[in-house]
Amino acid sequence: MPPRVLSGMRPSGKLHLGHYHGVLENWLKLQKQYECFFFAADWHALTTEYADPKEIRENTWEMVVDWLAVGIDPEVSTVFVQSSIKEHAELFVLLSMITPLGWLERNPTYKEQLKEITGKDLHTFGFLGYPVLQTADIIIYKAQKVPVGIDQVPHVELSREITRRFNYFYGELFPEPETLLTDAPKVLGTDGRKMSKAYNNAVYLSDPPDVVKKKILTMMTDPARKRRQDPGNPDICPLFLTFHKFYSDEKTIAWVRKGCTTAGIGCIECKQSVIPKVLERLKPIQEKREELSKDRERIWSVLKEGSRRAGAVAEKTILDVRKAMALE
Ligand code: SF4
Repeated sequence: MPPRVLSGMRPSGKLHLGHYHGVLENWLKLQKQYECFFFAADWHALTTEYADPKEIRENTWEMVVDWLAVGIDPEVSTVFVQSSIKEHAELFVLLSMITPLGWLERNPTYKEQLKEITGKDLHTFGFLGYPVLQTADIIIYKAQKVPVGIDQVPHVELSREITRRFNYFYGELFPEPETLLTDAPKVLGTDGRKMSKAYNNAVYLSDPPDVVKKKILTMMTDPARKRRQDPGNPDICPLFLTFHKFYSDEKTIAWVRKGCTTAGIGCIECKQSVIPKVLERLKPIQEKREELSKDRERIWSVLKEGSRRAGAVAEKTILDVRKAMALE
């Protein structure tokens, strides 16, 4: 049996190219090599959206339909919603008994997000404790590998520490989850900042062709190219770094580099050269999305079946945990 991998995504609705190149392309590779468990982290969404949770369910549907449209295969991978497996919550409670508060308070992401996310009161027990829930998410399936980008390595390290502490008190029940370091390329949005729904700068997998075209044609370029005759630098051009980098062949890239640095081509021409490639990549995804969307219930059935499979594993683990902790 190949090693088990667990990865989740907060349901934020329709997915954009940042999710596609940053996460989903990697999931598609993992799906071929490992036994994968992919879940919609709706309880994690509540850590920040607790005051207004009404969109979480719809966002889950929109996100999962995109997963399937890009090629996540629910026959091969186990695809489910976190809140449908109550064992995550039980293990979270039990792990929270043994997790020192200092470990959570020291978590750099916690401190950073408290500063960065404004307009929401995040001084809650749930927000502080989300690494404990994350640990429960991973070890309830005894997952050996957790795919993360370099910036998330400390999270998995914290999960490993909590797991070690559990094993120290109650016996070696869980493998320590290992990071599966993945290349998480930075995808820039139309305004040159990181592509994000929150910045309103994203190109969505489900955007119709004319919307994609418009977004690309109005996307920020190297600010040094104010006029057509000004030379530019592709290495600092958001359009180049996001679109040509992912969609153009070597020949086109060489053409852009030469044309840009010598002002031999204009930005519009440069942008137009990549648009057909982007549309070509999105076409089959959008066709599959449309087909899947015809029957909304189908997505919920897929998730139900995934929950049945995930639940069988989680149930077995929690029985072992209860025994190890003398609760049964
Ligand atoms: S020519 Fe292309 S790479 Fe150069 S600044 Fe314009 S859009 Fe960017």
